[in-house]
Amino acid sequence: MNIILLGAPGSGKGTQSELLCEKKGFIQLSTGDLFRNNIANNTALGMEAQTFMNQGLYVPDEITNKMVEAYLEQTHDNLIFDGYPRTVDQSVELDKMLSNLGQTIDKVIYFEIDNSVLMERLTGRLICQICKRSYHKVNRKPLKEGVCDFDGGDLITRPDDQEDKIKTRLEVYNTQTAPLIDFYQAKLTKVDATNKSVEQLYELLVEALNQ
Ligand code: ADP
Repeated sequence: MNIILLGAPGSGKGTQSELLCEKKGFIQLSTGDLFRNNIANNTALGMEAQTFMNQGLYVPDEITNKMVEAYLEQTHDNLIFDGYPRTVDQSVELDKMLSNLGQTIDKVIYFEIDNSVLMERLTGRLICQICKRSYHKVNRKPLKEGVCDFDGGDLITRPDDQEDKIKTRLEVYNTQTAPLIDFYQAKLTKVDATNKSVEQLYELLVEALNQ
């Protein structure tokens, strides 16, 4: 089964993907993480993506789709698509790529969330440099400041988690990604992600996925 997690930046997709991978054996395909790995390794793709990401803008579809296509050659089942597709063009392309591999998207989960909480979540977010797990400076602190509970990796603030960039990201999400809610209507289940703990949201998700 392949699923898409759809929702605004900060709505909890990444954290829930981690849990679904740990507990249900899914494999997370996060285009944001793939881009950041490319940046860390100084690849040509990373350099190209970085100029867009640092402004809070989407990386062009052609670049993003090619990266996903290369990934899908190796792995194309049991996937959680986290942060992809983000535009209608990407959705159309993903359908084609999967159908060429005899696969499909089975379910799309939309994280419905009150926009007012997103800014606080994103400006306080900390990410483990090694495992990419996320924490929050106030709401979800690690046991030891600055250090990941799981692997001892350094916790860092992502360069695009600054207020002006977050504003742009939320605008871009509303204009380019929100239309996917209609695009996937037939496969879509909404979960209410406002005022939910990580554990509560996970329960809703498992229910929505019939897992
Ligand atoms: P968030 O969901 O918090 O915005 P991500 O790690 O998913 O974080 O994405 C970070 C950035 O990476 C995006 O703002 C964008 O620049 C780029 N990116 C990730 N996925 C895509 C995509 N599918 N299409 C275009 N750009 C993307």
